[in-house]
Amino acid sequence: MASIGFIGVGNMGGPMARNLLKAGHAVTAFDLSEALLKTMADAGAKTAGSAAEAALEVDVVITMLPAGQHVKSVYVGEVLGHAKPGALFIDCSTIDVESAREVAAAAAEKGFPMVDAPVSGGVGGAEAGTLTFMVGGPEEAYEAARPFLDVMGKTIVHCGGAGNGQAAKICNNMMLGIQMISVAEAFVLAEKLGLDHQKLFDVSSKASGQCWSLTTYCPVPGPVPTSPANRDYQPGFTAAMMLKDLKLSQDAAGAFDADTALGRHAMSLYEAYAGAGNEGVDFSGIIKMIREAAG
Ligand code: NAD
Repeated sequence: MASIGFIGVGNMGGPMARNLLKAGHAVTAFDLSEALLKTMADAGAKTAGSAAEAALEVDVVITMLPAGQHVKSVYVGEVLGHAKPGALFIDCSTIDVESAREVAAAAAEKGFPMVDAPVSGGVGGAEAGTLTFMVGGPEEAYEAARPFLDVMGKTIVHCGGAGNGQAAKICNNMMLGIQMISVAEAFVLAEKLGLDHQKLFDVSSKASGQCWSLTTYCPVPGPVPTSPANRDYQPGFTAAMMLKDLKLSQDAAGAFDADTALGRHAMSLYEAYAGAGNEGVDFSGIIKMIREAAG
C-alpha cells in the first residue's frame, strides 16, 4: 500500500481521498479549510499544516484544487521543493491546458513523473468511486497512476501527452454546454407548439436528437426522474462550474486558433444565466432563462 499526500479535500477531493483510505492507502491530507481537515482526520487520514508538508515523504501526491493558479502555486511553490525524489504527481483538478503543461514541464525538469487526470462524474461519482478519468502524460506516469485512479474511478482513458487530459475534459464539457442549451431550446419550442414533454422525449431519446443532456439529464421534470429538473434544479453540476469549463474551452480556442462559434455562444448564455444569481443552480436550469426570454 502506498503513502499519499492529498491536497484539496473539498466536494470532490474529500470522497476521492476517503476511497483511497478505504482501499488501505495511508493518506496525509491538506486543505485551507480546517473543518474539511477534521472530516478527513475522522475518516482515518493524517493531516498536514501545509501543501509542502503533505508532500513530504509520500510516494504519491494527488491534488484536487479549484483552478490553474492554485495548481501552479501548490506544485511550483511547495510540492516540487519538498517531495521525495521520484514521487508521482496526479493533478485531478479541471484547469487550463497551458497551466497543466507548464506544471508538468516543471515537474519533469526535476525528475518527477506527472499526469493531469481531470474527472467527470460529479460528487456522486467521487463518492461511489465511479469517476471517469481523462489522463494526459507519459506512458510510464500513466501506468504508475493507474492503480490509484482505478480505486477512485471506473473508466480511465489515456488521452496522450501532458495536458491532453485537460484538453479532453474541456472539449467534452463544451459539447455538454452546447447540447444542454439545444435540448432546452427544443423543449421550449415544443411547449409553444403544443407538443407534450414526454412525447418529445419518447421520440428524441430514440431518434437522431439523442444525447446525454436529454437521456440522462433531461431539463424538464418527468421523463428522467433522477434529473435535477425534478428537484427544482438543485445541483448536480452548477451553472458556475459549467461557465468555468466553457471559459476554459474558449481560452483554449483563442490560444490555439480554433473557431468554436457555438461554444462561444454557449459561454455567453451561461454568463447571462449565472450572472442573474444562478451560479449555484444546476446548469440544466438554463431552460428557465430560455423560457422567460421566449415570453
Ligand atoms: P471545492 O471548492 O469543493 O474543493 C476545492 C478545495 O481546494 C477547497 O476545499 C479549498 O479549500 C481547497 N484549496 C484551495 N486552494 C488550496 C490550496 N492552496 N491548498 C490546499 N487546498 C486548497 O471544489 P470541487 O467541487 O471539489 O472541485 C475541485 C475541482 O474538480 C475543480 O477544478 C472542479 O472544476 C473539478 N470538478 C468538479 C466537479 C463537481 O461536480 N464538483 C466535477 C468534475 C470536476
